[in-house]
Amino acid sequence: MNRFSAAAAPDAAGGTGVKASSDATRAKTVSGAADSPDMPGGRTRALLDRLEGEHSLSRDEWVYLFEHRDAESLEYLKQKARAVADRHFGKDIYTRGLIEFTNYCRNDCLYCGIRRSNRKAERYRLTREEILQCCEDGYALGFRTFVLQGGEDESYSDEDIVEIVRSIKAGFPDCAVTLSIGEKSRASYLRFFEAGADRYLLRHETADFGHYRRLHPPELSPEHRRECLWSLKEIGYQVGTGFMVGAPGQTAECLAEDMLFIRELEPHMVGIGPFVPHHETPLAKEPGGSVELTLWCIGVLRLMLPQALIPATTALGTIAPDGREQGILAGANVVMPNLSPVAVRKKYELYDNKICTGEEAAECRFCLAGRMERIGYHIAVSRGDHPSRRKEEADV
Ligand code: SAM
Repeated sequence: MNRFSAAAAPDAAGGTGVKASSDATRAKTVSGAADSPDMPGGRTRALLDRLEGEHSLSRDEWVYLFEHRDAESLEYLKQKARAVADRHFGKDIYTRGLIEFTNYCRNDCLYCGIRRSNRKAERYRLTREEILQCCEDGYALGFRTFVLQGGEDESYSDEDIVEIVRSIKAGFPDCAVTLSIGEKSRASYLRFFEAGADRYLLRHETADFGHYRRLHPPELSPEHRRECLWSLKEIGYQVGTGFMVGAPGQTAECLAEDMLFIRELEPHMVGIGPFVPHHETPLAKEPGGSVELTLWCIGVLRLMLPQALIPATTALGTIAPDGREQGILAGANVVMPNLSPVAVRKKYELYDNKICTGEEAAECRFCLAGRMERIGYHIAVSRGDHPSRRKEEADV
């Protein structure tokens, strides 16, 4: 199994860096093109067509699809994926106000800048009042979802999280609260849900168990991470999972496993972004994920889960100046500007050169609105629930 993603690294201009096929006779249509030796890309396109129609592929087909990407197939995929997203969401882009409320973390994930072994990280945590102030500012800017994300910081008890969730829901009853605070017991997840939390983001990181173990210390297990995701789903959260694109050691087989797991879990949200190295981690010298492969993953996820909430992530915006716009044009439908106080922004450094760490919340909000307008989309002032949950929420 070869590591393959580095071959498609972004070029200096932030482009896809992928080589266009030299075959001038490339087939422009796909029907019946599968397996034709005369039509390079024919099978790739045929698989994309089938994915669009049937929303699933076999393991071998996924591997093929990840191993046979080229610039033309990516254009084909992007057009399809964007059309599917437009059908379900029109020109609306949902927005979430991200509040990174603590960078203390008990975990030691090999890729992450806030891992506990990074003694150089300047640690901080926000009080309930500071978090509520972020919500206040965010509400005035049109945010109707607040995402509370942090390291696994045991200094916040379950009761503290319950109190924070309750206060946000009391102060902003028309808003959704998303938690992204890692692996907890089922009982804790249930308490947060009963306190009013609507959604939970917990990336599975990689569905290949061997790959997971390479990226994490022995005390973390892929089995437990999955168990958490299933509990969250069963409790009734809108659940988000996801992975890093181009994480060290990732192969086409790993990505195929990711797709099969996501198909099985059927999450409401899928967060993916490129792996970006952090200089104070053991993976500092590894190459980062590419724009091209990230767009490919966004596109195929859109075809597999047409109604999913898929963000164009900050990490994608970090490796290409127009990364988030490209993500939207490849089928994403969510952006997550930062609402954390500017004083702590730089300290939530998961990876190097993270963008938007110096601007005020309002600047980020309007910058992103402008970026969306320029590509023909607009930011919606709404909770932005998964379509299957919209009626339910409206009835509350
Ligand atoms: N502690 C929570 C958890 O484990 O889900 C939330 C915080 S965690 C830092 C959020 C996400 O950041 C992870 O799921 C991981 O995929 C992503 N992340 C961490 N380090 C990264 C890196 N170097 N490049 C890109 N993404 C990274």
